[in-house]
Amino acid sequence: MEYSTLADRYEKLEAVASKLAKADIIGEFLKSIPSYELPKIVLLLQGRVYPSYSENELGIATQMMIKSISKASGFSAAKVEEIFKRTGDLGLTAEQCVKSKRQASLLKKKLTTDNVFENLQKLATIAGQGSQDKKFSLIAELIISAQPKEARYIVRTVLGELRIGAAEGIIRDAIVKAFLADEKSSKEEKEKATEAVENAWSLLNDYGEVAKIANEKGIKGLQKVGIQLGKPIQVMLGLAAEKIEDVVKEFGEIIAEYKYDGMRVVVEKKGNHFWLFTRRQEDVTKQFPDIVELAKKCLKADECIVEGEVLGIDTKTGYPLPFQAMSQRVHRKYDIDRLVKEIPVQVNLFDVMYVNGTPLFNEPLIERRKELARILKPIKGKFQLAKHIITGDVKKLEQFYGDAVEGKQEGLMLKVPNAPYVFGRHVGTMYKIKPVMENLDLVIIGAIWGEGGRTKWLTSYELACRDPNTGKFLSCGMMSTGLNEDEYELMTKELKKIIISENGKIVIVKPKIVLEVGYQEIQKSPNYESGFGLRFPRFVRVRDDKGPDEADTITRVKKLYSSQGKAG
Ligand code: ATP
Repeated sequence: MEYSTLADRYEKLEAVASKLAKADIIGEFLKSIPSYELPKIVLLLQGRVYPSYSENELGIATQMMIKSISKASGFSAAKVEEIFKRTGDLGLTAEQCVKSKRQASLLKKKLTTDNVFENLQKLATIAGQGSQDKKFSLIAELIISAQPKEARYIVRTVLGELRIGAAEGIIRDAIVKAFLADEKSSKEEKEKATEAVENAWSLLNDYGEVAKIANEKGIKGLQKVGIQLGKPIQVMLGLAAEKIEDVVKEFGEIIAEYKYDGMRVVVEKKGNHFWLFTRRQEDVTKQFPDIVELAKKCLKADECIVEGEVLGIDTKTGYPLPFQAMSQRVHRKYDIDRLVKEIPVQVNLFDVMYVNGTPLFNEPLIERRKELARILKPIKGKFQLAKHIITGDVKKLEQFYGDAVEGKQEGLMLKVPNAPYVFGRHVGTMYKIKPVMENLDLVIIGAIWGEGGRTKWLTSYELACRDPNTGKFLSCGMMSTGLNEDEYELMTKELKKIIISENGKIVIVKPKIVLEVGYQEIQKSPNYESGFGLRFPRFVRVRDDKGPDEADTITRVKKLYSSQGKAG
């Protein structure tokens, strides 16, 4: 397919706001695409060239893009930057620059989606010495070959900000519309089709593949998509509960487990092969050879998928290390053996979804837990079952909760014994209870360069919560306390990669980094877009296990505000 055909669709999508209209446009488009092209095109529609679980990232910073546009168009970098300041969008900047260089365009060979896709994939794999130069040339070449509108979308795709609003839910609905249900279908038929798409997606994690199966094999084909060992799954998520009593009142007897404050891990085993995935589907197998060793010794099934929480353990006290220890382990790409010794881990397993060819996710939790105990030969303190009790006695549960907090764990998870495992959703059958509920997970949307001895760092961060209806991020305060020098250094390095624009000391960044933030109080404030501001916000930790789409919402901020007794 010519890339210009796709660029036309991007433009159409950009011009409409409603989710329904977007799903209609994409649905119609998907129908016109031959099956073999669907995987690539669906990824491109999402502004990607690899599925979300892939480790490959394009990783291109604003400055490199300015240089590439400059090289491709012949405009000076200063001129490109000037246009960028005016448009606030490097895609539009590239479009304008290419338009002004129109003369040569008749001689250009037409770009295809394959050209763009393959070159962008290459971009993500260039590494080592001279990689920056190679990336720079590759982007410039693509822009040189592009028509103005194509340049807009190529640049935006490279930067990871396509801005056409093709969120995952919209792609899901578009696939349903294109291949599985039309206007004449009943509500039930549409729901069944949506469920089948979701089922396949939670196991494949790639709407491109899902679209192809939907087109070729319909609902039955999607329903048959099974567990694929070696591929990550979408994990089940819980809800927050205020009191143990409330959960017991609703469900009676429950399975209560320690809520460990570490990193969620899905361990997949196929014979002698092991894979470890995080809740965001990142493959962390290489970073945790110690967990692979333990899994080898302790998991008795030939094939299985189990799930648990990994903690770093303080060897002196035996207590869990702060969450940051896990972050360190996840991000370390070299000298891993040393870190294995410095930060030993403990895995606490709480679920199993698959054993020796049999999917278990539709079995009740209580049965899954029995199966987990059957296939596990635990090593105490290293690779074991999460501590749990099964009871409907509130007193016993309160006592157990006290034990958890005393043992320096985060709190409890309360789970309904007959609940199935539902991939990728927040479910009403699993609740967390924590003593401190107030911390918020917020996204950095801007920053300010420091003063005095700190001019080299971005030291204040503008925080935002999420509006689930519009997907927008609404500011709710500035935070500059709680970080040490190393953390400022690291944060500055990460923020520099995602700068959208700079004005004096003030920097606007792409909403990407999620922070857990503590504070004294939530106040109403007209100064912030959300209408709320945090009093004395302080940095707790980076939530690198969460994406911006998982940050706390304005609804939660309002709820917490009201729970302070000041609703209004
Ligand atoms: P939090 O911000 O409190 O960590 P969350 O927003 O990440 O919670 P929730 O679904 O609310 O996600 O809480 C579940 C998380 O708690 C899981 O993702 C997992 O990492 C962790 N966890 C720790 N112990 C358990 C357990 N026994 N069962 C399930 N999840 C557990």
